[in-house]
Amino acid sequence: MKKNVYFFGDGKADGRATDKNLLGGKGANLAEMTSLGIPVPPGFTITTDVCVEYLKQDTYPQGMEQELNDALAGVEKIMGQKFGDSENPLLVSVRSGARQSMPGMMETVLNVGLTSGTIPGLIKKTGNERFVYDAYRRLIMMYSDVVMEKAAGIEPPNGEGIRNQLEELMDAMKEKRDVTLDTDLTTDDLKSLVAQFKEKISDVLGKPFPDNARDQLLGGIEAVFRSWNGKRAISYRKIENIPHEWGTAVNVQTMVFGNMGNSSATGVAFTRNPATGENVFYGEWLVNAQGEDVVAGTRTPNPLNEANKTEDTQHLASLETAMPEVYQQLVTIRNGLEKHYHDMQDIEFTIQEGRLWMLQTRNGKRNGVAAIRMAGEMVEEGLIDKATAIMRVQPKQLDEIMHPMVDPKAEFKAGAIAKGLPAGPGGGTGQIVFTADDAENWAKDGKQVILVRNETSPEDVHGMHAAEAILTAKGGMTSHAALVARGWGKCCIVGCSALQINAKAKTMIVGGKTFKEGDWITLNGTIGKVYEGKLNLIEPDLEKNKDYQILMDIADELRTLKIRTNADRPEDAQQARDFGAQGIGLCRTEHMFFDPERILAMREMIVAEDETTRRKAVMKLLPFQRADFKGILAAMSPFPVTIRLLDPPLHEFVTLDDGQITELANELGITENHLRNRVSALHESNPMLGHRGCRLGVAYPEITEMQARAIFEATAELTKEGKTVFPEVMVPLVGTVTELSNQNAIINQMAADVKAETGVNFEYMVGTMIELPRACVTADEIAKEAEFFSFGTNDLTQTTYGFSRDDIGGFLPIYLDEKILKNDPFQSIDQNGVGELVKMGVQKGRSTKKDLKIGVCGEHGGDPDSIDFFHRAGLNYVSCSPYRVPIARLAAAQAAIRNK
Ligand code: ADP
Ligand code: MG
Ligand code: MG
Repeated sequence: MKKNVYFFGDGKADGRATDKNLLGGKGANLAEMTSLGIPVPPGFTITTDVCVEYLKQDTYPQGMEQELNDALAGVEKIMGQKFGDSENPLLVSVRSGARQSMPGMMETVLNVGLTSGTIPGLIKKTGNERFVYDAYRRLIMMYSDVVMEKAAGIEPPNGEGIRNQLEELMDAMKEKRDVTLDTDLTTDDLKSLVAQFKEKISDVLGKPFPDNARDQLLGGIEAVFRSWNGKRAISYRKIENIPHEWGTAVNVQTMVFGNMGNSSATGVAFTRNPATGENVFYGEWLVNAQGEDVVAGTRTPNPLNEANKTEDTQHLASLETAMPEVYQQLVTIRNGLEKHYHDMQDIEFTIQEGRLWMLQTRNGKRNGVAAIRMAGEMVEEGLIDKATAIMRVQPKQLDEIMHPMVDPKAEFKAGAIAKGLPAGPGGGTGQIVFTADDAENWAKDGKQVILVRNETSPEDVHGMHAAEAILTAKGGMTSHAALVARGWGKCCIVGCSALQINAKAKTMIVGGKTFKEGDWITLNGTIGKVYEGKLNLIEPDLEKNKDYQILMDIADELRTLKIRTNADRPEDAQQARDFGAQGIGLCRTEHMFFDPERILAMREMIVAEDETTRRKAVMKLLPFQRADFKGILAAMSPFPVTIRLLDPPLHEFVTLDDGQITELANELGITENHLRNRVSALHESNPMLGHRGCRLGVAYPEITEMQARAIFEATAELTKEGKTVFPEVMVPLVGTVTELSNQNAIINQMAADVKAETGVNFEYMVGTMIELPRACVTADEIAKEAEFFSFGTNDLTQTTYGFSRDDIGGFLPIYLDEKILKNDPFQSIDQNGVGELVKMGVQKGRSTKKDLKIGVCGEHGGDPDSIDFFHRAGLNYVSCSPYRVPIARLAAAQAAIRNK
């Protein structure tokens, strides 16, 4: 028969730490600590399976009550006490404990077993009447709240719950006695309170407080089970993605009392500081109190030891000085627990008349700073191995330390005014501006601005660069604003649909409130929240961050994937190198054309109607491009740089206002009308599927010629200067091998020409982006013409799903809500669909060329789950924006460990 109840006590336990699914985290660890010989009050755990069955069928499994009686008898035997006994009564706590901790969501009742029948015996035995009534009033408060109200499904309006009403009575009593602390109430005060409590409960809930120990116990157990389906618990599980089927376990455990006077106490602690990671025992305690008091904040807790003292707590006694022997015992347990669990623990303890008891241990939650520091230090201490250290840090925790952060304290107080998609992590604060030019001008005047727009386009880039942060009402995680911001590591929130922006009037309305140009707002791009006003930011400094360096060294040692970066400018390339990039996986050339000096030549080229005019315009761009490539190749030397030939639909460059039309028509010597006609002829209904990618180079070979020439001349010049550089020319959007051979011929011809003209020999490669399903399917043929592949997973996702990445924002939220999609396929690669095409491309490509170098340069290159997939798919490298390079290094190491 299935076991429903697991006993622990006196050094022996039925369960162990690995039984979390069945016993919940609390129960499993209470069992484990008991077996380790740590002093734990004896008790038993009723399994999560019982909970599941009880919630389904409203009865307990057969045999459960017998097991409960046996376990209770076992506890009574160890304690030499009896539950409900009038002479020597045993009291217990009834504690919830799910597989995964759900802080504050589940219920616990202390001091169960106090009745008119057991109270006199306990007073006689302890000689401490005040303590007994303090315990009793606590039982009444918790029990009426948890069992008689919540579990009964009663939902009083906010602030009118039974517990609040009882607290009001207690406050009134304190006022009457002119005291502030619970501990200042006398025995008589407590007795009178208990009577008032019972009356109030009968009045409000229409039932008397139960005066039978066994009723209390069974009521408590039932209530904990039911609390699994409480409103708060359900919504918490939704947010944290915890399955509703799990259920909670119940722990029934002998009470130990921290409220028996001044040699008694209770506390919570972390074996290391969870905010800094420092290897210092860290915690809080209260004398003469029960556990809930520390967390509830009814009294300011004392620092655990001298090292924990702050200005505010300087005057309070530490446990280290107040009870040195108990403190030393606790330190020994702390060391033992860390050795045993190989991780930082979060513990609860209680001291009853000088004797220490442990009530809980679990792996402690920590922020990014602490996670990174602990991982490195625990390796040094020999507590964990390198692979474990790498797995301990979540990639998003690395993100936390790379950007200025909104001060969590300020944020907590502020309360968000709107929420959008967290496109660029970190914090940003500034004055609102509504145009890119304003952003630039205000920034020149030394102001801090946030650029607020419905959406951004390449023409806004200067303003985006000048802004502290970017906020848009539209767009998704791969919208223009998001890509650009992430590339610069800039704080950015997109798709914030609560904003009503009127760019003309320079106002924005959020939640009924109007914000004007110049008003201050603050963004937390890590979670997508917008705040009114100027909140304090905290600055990072990675170079000086020794803990970060140690972790990254370990990651580099363990990973097999190389990490490159997507960068278009030498400064970005340098930034990425500082972050550890080993080359450029994608240098987009089109961003180089928006400079005012170049855009005119670019436009001339685009609207040209014959080859001679086009060639003339194109060649004007050659010196600019050569200088650009020189800069970026030099910045990455000796690492390789993949340069993608011109890719975007041309009309992106010819959205012209009247002034620009006049200027361009003059330059070309044609009429404005003629020019307007030409521009409208370029219009496409589906530009993403239109005349772009290699289709441009095929139609206008002079563009490819110019770009290839610029790349190779830059290479020749740098080689002459003694620099080691390695360009990889990448042809975009190839769907058939013949497109690639067409472009290859031009590129190779240019290389030969430049070698002949300069007399310099240099190396280079020509390869292709694989970003169309047809390219994956025919990768074996394409590989004959390609020296490398780079998966462009943005376009590949777009063309495989048929989702426009610019328009997915319209329905993606619904798809996610309805669970039609698990996540945004432009953020994390769709492994079953798009991923299968990637695998096919790899396998087919390498069937032609065994050692074909293959990478990925889509946004997915910086996403940890996608990186794991690319590792498994056998890629050589991933390429991502500079600020994601450290995250990719960590994620690549984790992939290598996970897939060993
Ligand atoms: P939570 O999961 O919310 O922390 P717990 O079940 O751990 O709930 O209990 C709440 C408080 O009561 C904690 O401070 C805990 O230490 C204390 N507590 C629980 N059981 C006992 C017990 N048997 N004796 C003394 N204190 C207890
Ligand atoms: Mg607890
Ligand atoms: Mg593409």
